[in-house]
Amino acid sequence: MKLQIIFATGNKDKIREIREIITDPEIDVVSMKEAGVSCDPDENGSSFEENSRIKALAVADLICKEPGRVNREALRYRIPSMPEDDKKPSAPVAVMSDDSGLVIDALDGAPGIYSARYMGHETSYTLKMRHILELLENVHGEDRSARFVAAVSAAVITKKVLAEKKNPVLLTVRGEMEGLIADDIKGCNGFGYDPFFYLPDLKKTSAEISDEEKNALSHRGKALRLMLEKLGDLPELTNEDSDCQ
Ligand code: IMP
Repeated sequence: MKLQIIFATGNKDKIREIREIITDPEIDVVSMKEAGVSCDPDENGSSFEENSRIKALAVADLICKEPGRVNREALRYRIPSMPEDDKKPSAPVAVMSDDSGLVIDALDGAPGIYSARYMGHETSYTLKMRHILELLENVHGEDRSARFVAAVSAAVITKKVLAEKKNPVLLTVRGEMEGLIADDIKGCNGFGYDPFFYLPDLKKTSAEISDEEKNALSHRGKALRLMLEKLGDLPELTNEDSDCQ
């Protein structure tokens, strides 16, 4: 399946992680910045799924209205509506976006969709985690259950979508990684809440495992692999109906 993915994030670490997870040589992943598209819609949905859809659709809408604004140099393939003099083979584009966060059962799901904004964007993760550890002072064992959740959406733009001014084909999936909130902060790998997210099977926090180990288990890894499976099943992207030349 030839596919160009424009990942709607400004976060370089996320793009690196996504490129480590999506290893199919036919699938090219570029950031919004590389594609020359700039868009920062309000992620004001009430679920991870809704927030991931908002961003994917906003960026796809921009591209559908003005495919010419995408930086062609950044793309290995050509978006179907780009000028014919471009020698690159064309392929559909999927604008992908994720929304993720930490859900703690004893805190009624907090920080949840507010994980990045919890206690303010400027507050360090060490302070955020210390505060949560205090809130969980009297919560023990299995009652400290938590999970990282990632929703990934893809808005697929094909030749038909562009020619007939249709809405992009929209897919949304969810991945989860279960664990417990540790008693302390441990480990230097990963980011965000990783240093206090304990994986009982490995007896380590997710900041104490390697990138490869985390990608194999993580909510984002699971969601992205599931999304690739779903895209592979999409009639719009199969050989017969594909826009590829
Ligand atoms: P967003 O998906 O970019 O809106 O941000 C999600 C937020 O959830 C991040 O800023 C982190 O605080 C947290 N988060 C999501 N995934 C992970 C992870 O794999 N490790 C640690 N924290 C995460």
